[in-house]
Amino acid sequence: MRLDLKDIGDSGLSWEFSGEFDDFPLLLDLQGQEEQLFTDRLVFKLHLQKSGQIVEVDGSFATWVALTCGHCLQPFEQRVAGDFTLTFTPLIKDSATDEVEELELDADELGIVYYKDEILDLLQPLQEQVVMALPIAPLCSEGCQGLCLECGCDLNEEPCTCEKKLFDNKFTALAGLKLDRSD
Ligand SMILES: [Zn+2]
Ligand SMILES: [Zn+2]
Repeated sequence: MRLDLKDIGDSGLSWEFSGEFDDFPLLLDLQGQEEQLFTDRLVFKLHLQKSGQIVEVDGSFATWVALTCGHCLQPFEQRVAGDFTLTFTPLIKDSATDEVEELELDADELGIVYYKDEILDLLQPLQEQVVMALPIAPLCSEGCQGLCLECGCDLNEEPCTCEKKLFDNKFTALAGLKLDRSD
């Protein structure tokens, strides 16, 4: 996942590739914790545009992951995709001191990636994009009913009578109050 600066022509370079999650160390770590998180290959589409020593990258990616719903605890698969932009900028060496100039920028936040020796290393920034796109609180669907807090049944599968019972009890209690008052 390295690109030579020379490979990017004046009209830019479009680059599409797919890889397994275990091509990416960060994703391989995640896979170790969850059972089979990534269920499909990762497909990246990139367009790189060079302007002097600066390279702007417009990219997108897509893959599928297996998740567990936080409401109903059912396993489900979800497409994870995202668009991103990155800016590659060379690390500038001070020729007098041989020290690398540190720019006062929060490199990560601005999507800035440093490169040296005219080689762009895409591995780290690309796997970071995937990790950031993973859902933190997965839901199988927006309208997931979850589990009944009383009996634990999956309310997406079958409505239970717990809520109705609760309502009936309240109603009876209210009705009782009214009767008491009218006496
Ligand atoms: Zn659910
Ligand atoms: Zn119930």
